[in-house]
Amino acid sequence: MIDFSLTDEQELFVAGVRELMASQNWESYFKECDAKHEYPLRWVKALAELGVDTMLLPQEYGGMGESWVSLAAIWEELGRCGAPTYVLYQLPGFSTILKYGSKAQIEKIFKFRGSGEQMFNSAITEPSAGSDVGSLKTTYTRKDGKVYLNGQKCFITSSAGVPYLIVMARDAASEKPVFSEWFVDMSLPGIKLTPLEKLGLRMDSCCEISFDNVALDESDIFGVEGGGFERVKEEFDAERFLVACTNYGVSLCAFEDAARYANLRVQFGETIGRTQLIQEKIAHMSIKLNAMKNMIYETAWKMDRGQNVTAESAMCKYYCANAAFSVVDDAMQILGGIGVTGHRVERFWRDLRVDRLSGGSDEMQILTLGRAVLKKFK
Ligand SMILES: Cc1cc2nc3c(=O)[nH]c(=O)nc-3n(C[C@H](O)[C@H](O)[C@H](O)COP(=O)(O)OP(=O)(O)OC[C@H]3O[C@@H](n4cnc5c(N)ncnc54)[C@H](O)[C@@H]3O)c2cc1C
Repeated sequence: MIDFSLTDEQELFVAGVRELMASQNWESYFKECDAKHEYPLRWVKALAELGVDTMLLPQEYGGMGESWVSLAAIWEELGRCGAPTYVLYQLPGFSTILKYGSKAQIEKIFKFRGSGEQMFNSAITEPSAGSDVGSLKTTYTRKDGKVYLNGQKCFITSSAGVPYLIVMARDAASEKPVFSEWFVDMSLPGIKLTPLEKLGLRMDSCCEISFDNVALDESDIFGVEGGGFERVKEEFDAERFLVACTNYGVSLCAFEDAARYANLRVQFGETIGRTQLIQEKIAHMSIKLNAMKNMIYETAWKMDRGQNVTAESAMCKYYCANAAFSVVDDAMQILGGIGVTGHRVERFWRDLRVDRLSGGSDEMQILTLGRAVLKKFK
């Protein structure tokens, strides 16, 4: 039986995060970072000091050994306070490095524990390979004991701020497609970054990157040769789940802002919350929030049991990105003019629109979900 109640320890962790969020005016900091397109390092560092960055990491590696349900609860609370949890996607990355990285790669990334700094991200997408990742053209070529990386990536999140990128490439020498990942130091010669302007998610960078004969060592391979796609498939499930948690969190924030406002704002001699058209919006927003919450916690619960969640994470990403967008849009409507003149719902609205594309588009989630569900009936 699924039980969504949090343990005392989990409640304590959530309370710590709530206290941090109440400790200062983070909203003005987020607003400033969003306007300047800056990573909110001070906030992420404060979270890292509470252990949020390593919460999923087993205790023997200095982490908290927490569950995905705990993570969902923390993301929910942060989102409810209007925080940009989308900049935290890298943090569960410590577990990825631990699972697939070499000793040297683990050491390089583990140095970032507690710092809140950006450390690495995956680079898969290319100008001619978006949803169709299998058509990517970036190659690696072995010559005189070195490995040379050539090609172009695009829409790569955090790439202006990370010291390392895990780059997916195909073996130039193989006729059959062999996709492997390389742990690339971004200070190497031959790497050129071109920053892109985004509609939303502005507290993180996004760039086009070209690799021109970037010389790597054999030891820079990430995971096993030819195992690139298997690894990222696992990453996709977790990433989609995290996007859904972020979407749900900020829509909860927008909903609470709008519901409070509806009870205060007087027009035609009564609060707008007393009008049936506003009540209808609040009712539909509540239904969507409830569905998002249940879907997220059920998926987290399955992840904690080691179950495959390819279908569930695609469902969460598709449903939450769309339902949250609709909730935030309704919140904006309830807030009237103030909703479009500097209120935080504006930021959420822009961020959510991007999330219906990044991390795999709505359409790809539907296709993934359909296939994964049918597989269960084979
Ligand atoms: C802000 C942002 C950050 C990103 N960060 C990263 C990152 O860090 N690392 C990384 O590797 N990638 C990243 N991406 C890439 C992202 O995953 C891709 O943009 C996404 O997969 C879509 O690719 P595309 O933009 O080339 O669109 P396309 O694949 O060209 O698709 C265009 C449209 O056609 C639809 N479509 C395509 N094929 C089909 C089909 N078979 N059936 C129905 N509809 C279809 C799509 O759903 C979409 O609506 C990011 C993208 C964005 C926008």
